[in-house]
Amino acid sequence: MLAGPFSLRYVHLFVGNQSPGAFILSKNGRSANFVGASPDDLAETLEHFAQHSNYRYFWFAYTSSADEAVELEHTWTHRYQPSDNTGPSSGIDGTDWHCTTTGCATCALSRARS
Ligand SMILES: [Zn+2]
Repeated sequence: MLAGPFSLRYVHLFVGNQSPGAFILSKNGRSANFVGASPDDLAETLEHFAQHSNYRYFWFAYTSSADEAVELEHTWTHRYQPSDNTGPSSGIDGTDWHCTTTGCATCALSRARS
């Protein structure tokens, strides 16, 4: 379940569990600018972005494992086509995830690049 948008300044009010998870960051609270994941502590990763970026809003979902967080990150990157992602932001790749979005623009782009 995707929850949000929440204010990135108040991460700790909304993300209370120490858990893996995935998130979407936004500057205007409407469109996705950046998709990321945390393998072990979603709140800590979001706090980092709160202090070192100019995003103002976020959506997030807890996952039960790091693998699931990375899969969700992939899925959302393809579904929402965030403007600021240049690759898998968690730096974790090589899962057996496959995009199932028909006519996915992100896949078309990465095919064009390679
Ligand atoms: Zn895709």
